Amino acid sequence: MANKNTESNVGLQQSTHSLPSYLQADNLGPWGTFLNQVDRVTPYLGNLSRWVETLKRPKKALIVDVPIHLDNGTVAHFEGYRVQHNTSRGPGKGGVRFHQDVTLSEVMALSAWMSVKNAAVNLPFGGAKGGIRVDPKLLSRGELERITRRYTSEIGSIIGPTKDIPAPDVNTDAQIMAWMMDTYSMNEGSTSTGVVTGKPIALGGSLGRREATGRGVFTVGTKAANKIGLTIQGSKLAVQGFGNVGSIAAQLFVEAGAILVSVQDHTGTIYSGSGLDVAFLQQYVQSQGGVAGFPGAEVINPNLFWQVDCDILIPAALEGQITKDNAQLIKASMVIEGANGPTTPEADDILVDRNVLVIPDVIANAGGVTVSYFEWVQDFSSFFWSEKEINARLVSIMNDAFESIWNTAQKHQVTLRTATFIIGCSRILQAREERGLYP
Ligand code: NAD
Repeated sequence: MANKNTESNVGLQQSTHSLPSYLQADNLGPWGTFLNQVDRVTPYLGNLSRWVETLKRPKKALIVDVPIHLDNGTVAHFEGYRVQHNTSRGPGKGGVRFHQDVTLSEVMALSAWMSVKNAAVNLPFGGAKGGIRVDPKLLSRGELERITRRYTSEIGSIIGPTKDIPAPDVNTDAQIMAWMMDTYSMNEGSTSTGVVTGKPIALGGSLGRREATGRGVFTVGTKAANKIGLTIQGSKLAVQGFGNVGSIAAQLFVEAGAILVSVQDHTGTIYSGSGLDVAFLQQYVQSQGGVAGFPGAEVINPNLFWQVDCDILIPAALEGQITKDNAQLIKASMVIEGANGPTTPEADDILVDRNVLVIPDVIANAGGVTVSYFEWVQDFSSFFWSEKEINARLVSIMNDAFESIWNTAQKHQVTLRTATFIIGCSRILQAREERGLYP
């Protein structure tokens, strides 16, 4: 029986036609992809589906102007965003991206995936995300610090340790989190380490956070490989994106016996049938800024990356990379989504038809936010855990979450993505229902 306060009874249970134009999915960008994923899960939500409109619009979206003095004496303006998709289960949580292509709708989608992810691994957080439309590689260190501090001040009214806790994402790191923490603390008048995660260890950061997302990718990847009878030892691995997520995931797979045959990043695509030296490649990328020119590797056309002969493919760069055009070409038997939203819905369907197992972002890359949660807890209690303890808890949470997602997928005969959405969205909407509507 429908509760009199449910959305269906107040006329909000409508299709996306009733949404403001900027929320509609006429071209399937990241937000359209998310709406499509929600539509796919809705039939499995039972009575909770009457609240599903909640998921189709962000709770709060802030656009801010970020003016800074450039080193040449001129003033430049940048556009920044912070979106809180849902806070029914706890404060918003999600990274901050600095990239020249960042848009409001992209940040909305990324914040929504954070809601689902946090709920799927049962962390007491909602979903949020932020970003600045800027190419940080064109900024000096001073300019980078100024843009970070001004952005933090501008979004300061909606973030906080119990409101919304940012973290690193593409092109942001521990140093940027340190500047964010300092700026927020200065404005508040007291040191607030828990306002961001992914900080340097000396400022309340957690051991194991830098490696956590890659470690989570590896943990669920090996578990899934086990389910489909794929042996990691001797398997061939291709990775797109060799930053925080891609490089650590590659390292852990190689340590477990996999052969890293190809890596693509924004500077180029390299290949070696006998395997790339992952430790040397990490050092090279650190010093050179990308994989281009890596000694001893063959350079291949970027379009050929998707048809490289491999068993495991890890997209760990940006959204919308696996499309209907290249999904047909993929040779891997398993795709582990280190990146957020790397596969379009059409490509998802093609991969299912071709019997390629896709481990979706909302579980595959949840390791980062899981250790961010540990960091937040440690900051609150001012008591810090050993790296061994952190990694053990991370692996235990990821294994349990993956097992229940696998079982849900088996039970409903759905993909792992829909299974993760079933678990995550049910938890969010359950909280929504139990909290009721204010006022
Ligand atoms: P990063 O900035 O450390 O690395 C990004 C990588 O992507 C770089 O190697 C870059 O060269 C590559 N790249 C950028 N544009 C590219 C293009 N057009 N083609 C090929 N490669 C390109 O970022 P990261 O933190 O490793 O994040 C990567 C992905 O993982 C993002 O989707 C992010 O949202 C997701 N993610 C990150 C975390 C985290 O803890 N850092 C957690 C969960 C999900």
